[in-house]
Amino acid sequence: MVAVNEYEFDGVDDPTASSASGTAGGGRRLQAPLGQGEALQRWLRLARGLRLPHGFLVTGARGIGKTTVIDWLTAALLCPSDLDAEAPCGVCRTCTQVANGRHPDVHVLDRAQDEREHDELKKSYYVIKVDQVRAAQVTLQRHAVTGRARVLVIKDADHLDEEGQNALLKTLEEPGVATFLLLEAARPEQLLPTVHSRVQRLGVLPLGNSVIEEQLRARLPMRGDRFPGALAVARGSLGQALSACTERVVQLHDLVRTLLADPKVLRPVATARAVLEQAKERRFELEAARTFLWLLRSELRARCLHLADDPGATYGARPAEPWTTWLETTLHAERDLDLQIPAEQVLTACLVQFRP
Ligand SMILES: [Zn+2]
Repeated sequence: MVAVNEYEFDGVDDPTASSASGTAGGGRRLQAPLGQGEALQRWLRLARGLRLPHGFLVTGARGIGKTTVIDWLTAALLCPSDLDAEAPCGVCRTCTQVANGRHPDVHVLDRAQDEREHDELKKSYYVIKVDQVRAAQVTLQRHAVTGRARVLVIKDADHLDEEGQNALLKTLEEPGVATFLLLEAARPEQLLPTVHSRVQRLGVLPLGNSVIEEQLRARLPMRGDRFPGALAVARGSLGQALSACTERVVQLHDLVRTLLADPKVLRPVATARAVLEQAKERRFELEAARTFLWLLRSELRARCLHLADDPGATYGARPAEPWTTWLETTLHAERDLDLQIPAEQVLTACLVQFRP
């Protein structure tokens, strides 16, 4: 299985990351997920009673709030407060430790955040390795420190290589008493059928534009002029909406709109370089390339939908617009990035297809 990449743009993968409200003991306060309704509530009730399925997969697009949901479920398993049978208290020491990644019974399996950390952490930026899985399995054999439950969180579980996934099967089958494996994946199709058959799955629901706008107003009150652009590309993801308000993404968005307005003047190599020019490391290049493709896709989708609303546009005298074909092209480019083909090459090859 090939490594796939999800990245965090400007550190805003998750809506809670930018809204960390302080706690008395310092650090971030646990945040309740927004807008998930009964679908999540049902699992929370089970988690409070330690009856959550032992293997649990949380899916959804980048920035949609998977980490918030996983943290909330983890806290629901561990929070000792018995005031609420449907949610963690959110404020006790346990809840705060969970929110800050410091609870002794929560183990996290993830990728290196930086390619350069490779040697030091024995982690890769591209895959979660089988050795990491085995080390986590050893950790899970120890007793829980607080006695209530043990949780293994696997971030970007879609980056587990095939060997790692196979190694995980044993633990998914026989996790041990009060042991829960919470997997997070933007692309669950990268997981083996044998993994899928051993987990229950919860898809994080996209938020409505009114909810996203309210959050943007609360968190970025000075950037109101950017909200319409951000809402246009967010597609229900608060994390994406927040990242779309950052200076660099606004620039990329302008570039996308300019090139779609007049593809005839498009210069593929120069445009690819303009997208990547500020990226000093390869992971930042990947981030920039993915963000560019995401913005391009969002704009192309909007144009395709517009076409669907206006049948005259399809059957009129002028030739059908190539937007659906271009949409396909951007998806191919995204896959090429997954194959670790250099970003400049991928973007240039993609943009060449856009020239009339
Ligand atoms: Zn609590």
